[in-house]
Amino acid sequence: DYPNYGRIDGPIVIIGFGSIGRGTLPLIERHFDYDANKLTVIEPDHAVHTFLHQRGINHVEVALTPDNYREVLGELFAEGKGFCVNLSVDTSSLDIMKFCREIGVLYIDTVVEPWAGYYFETQDNEARTNYALRQAVRDEKARNPGGTTAVSCCGANPGMVSWFVKEALTTLARDTGRDTDTPTDRQGWAALMRDLGVKGVHIAERDTQARREPRPRDVFVNTWSVEGFIAEGFQPAELGWGTHETWFPENGHRHEQGCLSAIWIERPGAITRVHTWCPTPGPQFGFLVTHNEAISISDYYTVGDPAAPEYRPTCHYAYHPCDDAVLSLHEMFGSGKQQTKHYILEEHEIVEGIDELGVLLYGHEKNALWFGSRLSNDETRELAPYQNATGLQVTSAVLAGMVWALENPEAGIVETDEMDHVRCLEVQRPYLGPVEAHYTDWTPLQDRWEHFAEDIDESDPWLFRNVLAS
Ligand code: NAD
Repeated sequence: DYPNYGRIDGPIVIIGFGSIGRGTLPLIERHFDYDANKLTVIEPDHAVHTFLHQRGINHVEVALTPDNYREVLGELFAEGKGFCVNLSVDTSSLDIMKFCREIGVLYIDTVVEPWAGYYFETQDNEARTNYALRQAVRDEKARNPGGTTAVSCCGANPGMVSWFVKEALTTLARDTGRDTDTPTDRQGWAALMRDLGVKGVHIAERDTQARREPRPRDVFVNTWSVEGFIAEGFQPAELGWGTHETWFPENGHRHEQGCLSAIWIERPGAITRVHTWCPTPGPQFGFLVTHNEAISISDYYTVGDPAAPEYRPTCHYAYHPCDDAVLSLHEMFGSGKQQTKHYILEEHEIVEGIDELGVLLYGHEKNALWFGSRLSNDETRELAPYQNATGLQVTSAVLAGMVWALENPEAGIVETDEMDHVRCLEVQRPYLGPVEAHYTDWTPLQDRWEHFAEDIDESDPWLFRNVLAS
């Protein structure tokens, strides 16, 4: 009795069959009509071959590269229609998106990914920022507006959390007695956020999923792509930089070009800690890992001239990954080398825990509001196969993005801030477990240890200076 979201004409090609590809497959099978013999997975790892073969799914066992992607995808999409679902690491989202639009094929991904080698071989830290990667996609959108839809960065975060920001704003407007119409465009949403007095947004996440046995030494354990997490963890910390900030980090840098909504810090995100808040733990440390949504949300909600805005929210990720991943990061940064083994926790071995992923809107008259999904691994196992709670928050966003693209096939390149959040959440919500709003009177100046002096400014608890842990 699952809703059917229509027919995908032509081939469906999934690029990458890791934790997210494997979890997305059953949702595509469940919710769309399509020619089963035109479903293909491009995945260089031979280990997935039997799984795919047993299900009658074509397996193209190659790694896409700058040299072969046009040929491989061109052959698979020879009909000039279909859907390309890019869920791989080490492939250029921009190049593949451009090619798909050229040949009239719908496209979706969950991150702006560069070709293999980029994250570690590029020496210039500014070039390694998500700001630079995202801006290249925004520039392509500006150069070639409209045309075949390509949805950029439609996972849980980036992705779903942009829809949560709008839900949270609507909730806050209602709860503060403002009788406003739901905005219908970017300017309207930005004005609403400003009028509600929101100073900033944390993408506040606590993953408590755990298995029974302890993490072995020299294994990086995570609940989603280890490769993806290491790559972003080594990128510089980045955040959307709001107009309420009165201080600037000594090791911070602004950008000269593009949307100008964000800054970057001369330090890897995965060892940069911030004070944040989630419903389960209350106050906690999160890592300021760079993410596309930190930049896109600050950009989307800017009021006025981007170079000298009247209003802009601060926005950044504040991520407490599962405990095994925290230990893995500690080991990796301490030893100066990556672990020799990578491991993603599977749904059947996880014995407890939830992925609590939401947006914390702060600085307004009700102080702070967390709005998000508190999906447990136990519930995930009932909802869909081949994934843990983290996976399902991502794959259900991919499903929602695919539905939106099918319903809006000529929307050009879009980010999730630019999509109909009501429709997308309608599709996604059955897979998110409890989706809840929690107000808190916590601020970053509360619950601090008092024995050592800290670099804080008590005039406004929500300054980034106070959020950043010393
Ligand atoms: P994973 O590491 O489990 O799987 C990635 C797969 O890509 C692997 O199977 C790998 O063999 C394959 N691959 C590597 N190079 C390739 C190439 N050149 N061509 C084709 N395939 C290639 O990762 P995952 O957890 O499935 O995540 C997939 C992507 O989704 C990553 O980029 C990750 O950052 C992103 N992601 C986004 C979100 C979000 O919320 N937006 C969440 C989780 C993951």
